[in-house]
Amino acid sequence: MISEFQCPCHGTMRGYVGDQYKTSRVVFYPGAQYESYWKSSHMCAQLTDIIPLFNAIHPNAVAVFLFDQSSNHKAYPEDALLAQNMNLCAIEVKDSDSGQGKFRDSSFYVRKQYDYAEQQKNKKYKKYFIGLRGILQQRSMYRNEAERYSLKRSCNNVATADSRCCAIHIMERQPDFANQKSALEEIVEGSGHKFELYPKYHCECN
Ligand SMILES: [Zn+2]
Ligand SMILES: [Zn+2]
Repeated sequence: MISEFQCPCHGTMRGYVGDQYKTSRVVFYPGAQYESYWKSSHMCAQLTDIIPLFNAIHPNAVAVFLFDQSSNHKAYPEDALLAQNMNLCAIEVKDSDSGQGKFRDSSFYVRKQYDYAEQQKNKKYKKYFIGLRGILQQRSMYRNEAERYSLKRSCNNVATADSRCCAIHIMERQPDFANQKSALEEIVEGSGHKFELYPKYHCECN
């Protein structure tokens, strides 16, 4: 398959970025015996690679990067703030973990010493994700102590008007969670360009 960014003026973009010749086209060989399947991480890598190429051949221009609404294009970054991916209670994680070990806000983690035998040298620590309950407490979101123990992780329903139905829905209203952008949108906007999705069911442009 081909994954390619085209601009209205050049079509396929080609040119030098520094001393490296680049094109905006990637040829990908899907299949178990080849390169597996095209994932969000491939799309992010290609986008990150071609933005400097766009900049090099269109100096001082702002691009509008347009994507269709495939799930790859709407995928969140690995460290995204997504309440539905969070435990209610604290959970031990490792730095190497994906998922709950990777949320981008370092205040969601604590390290606790667990081996007291060796006092000063070789201290051993475990890392914990503090969970939705820990974050709600950190942000003084509980109205009282009783709510801290009674509030469920999920109401398994749509959020109530005040979203006090469950920890996930309260957290989803927090600005940093509510404003979480997709991986592609973060890359595009982080480089000073604009990101848009085609309307749903828009025909593919290839
Ligand atoms: Zn162009
Ligand atoms: Zn709820």
